[in-house]
Amino acid sequence: MIEIKEKSNCTGCHACANACPKNCISMVSDEEGFWYPQAEKAKCIDCGLCVNVCPIIHKRHPDDSCMTTAIAAINLNEEIRLRSSSGGIFTLLAENIIAQGGVVFGAAFADDFKSVRHICVNDIADLDKLRGSKYVQSKIGDTYKQAKDYLDSGRKVLFTGTPCQIGGLYSYLRTPYENLFTQDIICHGVPSPMVWEKYVVFREKQSASATQRMFFRHKKYGWKTYAVLFEFSNNTAYVKKLHEDSYMKAFLSNSCLRPSCYACSFKGIKRQADITLADFWGIQNVLPEMDDDKGTSLVLVHSYKGRYLLDKLSDKIKSQAVDIDIVEKYNPSVINSVVANSKREDFLKDIHKDAFEITVLKYTKKSFLKRLRSAIIKIARTFKHYLKE
Ligand SMILES: Cc1cc2nc3c(=O)[nH]c(=O)nc-3n(C[C@H](O)[C@H](O)[C@H](O)COP(=O)(O)OP(=O)(O)OC[C@H]3O[C@@H](n4cnc5c(N)ncnc54)[C@H](O)[C@@H]3O)c2cc1C
Ligand code: SF4
Ligand code: SF4
Ligand code: SF4
Repeated sequence: MIEIKEKSNCTGCHACANACPKNCISMVSDEEGFWYPQAEKAKCIDCGLCVNVCPIIHKRHPDDSCMTTAIAAINLNEEIRLRSSSGGIFTLLAENIIAQGGVVFGAAFADDFKSVRHICVNDIADLDKLRGSKYVQSKIGDTYKQAKDYLDSGRKVLFTGTPCQIGGLYSYLRTPYENLFTQDIICHGVPSPMVWEKYVVFREKQSASATQRMFFRHKKYGWKTYAVLFEFSNNTAYVKKLHEDSYMKAFLSNSCLRPSCYACSFKGIKRQADITLADFWGIQNVLPEMDDDKGTSLVLVHSYKGRYLLDKLSDKIKSQAVDIDIVEKYNPSVINSVVANSKREDFLKDIHKDAFEITVLKYTKKSFLKRLRSAIIKIARTFKHYLKE
């Protein structure tokens, strides 16, 4: 029976809960808001399946029969690209699978926007629910079981998510399926669902209204300086650039990520997924002609299936091959886990006590020396700019 001794050794992927033949594993949130498996001893028959499918206990190595290649890519449909976090490649992959009678799994907001969970989509019109990054852990629920049912019935399945969610799916399935396609992301880490819920409650209190639409990566000010945007039912809106928004400050300062994200077992260029999608940070230096600040994707292709999927998109994208060595330089999250903020534990305790923005301010406020250093760097950059002119 599965038992969590070290929280950093559980990604919350739900593979154990999906596999249990007695349905005796519940995923229960701890005080930080992250769910962990809890087995009901009375119902357990000691079959050991939960331990066997855990991708952390039984690590599965990526198939290295196909060399990983990298491209920069842009969806030629500008409207979709602007509604996507980077170059809008996810939508094209998903449309292709649905057009072949398949189904797509990915992360969507709940109706009240206070949580994110994985859902299955079989209509192109519903892809909007999956489009766009949601910077909070998405609950897998029973979607691995649902995906298996579709696979067994012969339907094509595209399963998308974080690398640990894709790892969990393969471990749960245990058999290879010709009709399964997977896509993961380069993953910074996932913030606590509890922190996200508190933030939505806070925003709604400020606007005295319910959330109607929400974007983590709105491109109002461009792709590189993306903005957090809430639209409320009383026709008001909240919009802040990424470094000015308190939730994004907590996320990017690594104050509220899942413990497993600080020691991630799914890092590396080579992945279990067929395709990895990411932001092509640094594109302005690598291929300036592929940068219009509306979003460029970095696409890593790891398998023959991934190549097959990408070939189908050739007339719908603008793309250029890039050297695989460039990936780590501009996107270190591909290889390295982030380092936990030294005040993480205190932050996650205090968030229960004070108003959201007060807590974030308390924990992300720069010291006088840091502020002085930033000011000096800013002045030096301005002088450099004038000297060049
Ligand atoms: C938590 C998180 C951390 C990330 N960290 C990085 C990073 O460090 N560096 C980097 O370059 N890119 C990162 N990305 C990926 C990047 O933000 C884009 O999602 C990716 O480039 C795909 O963009 P797109 O324009 O093709 O499609 P989009 O339409 O923007 O992306 C949709 C896809 O993202 C998936 N998705 C959205 N939210 C979640 C979620 N909470 N959990 C699992 N899957 C989700 C959907 O299922 C779908 O597959 C991260 C994404 C997430 C969700
Ligand atoms: S040992 Fe078997 S029955 Fe018991 S919790 Fe694990 S999967 Fe369920
Ligand atoms: S299978 Fe997933 S949720 Fe279950 S213990 Fe392992 S990592 Fe945690
Ligand atoms: S950083 Fe690793 S453990 Fe955390 S969500 Fe991403 S893939 Fe999973």
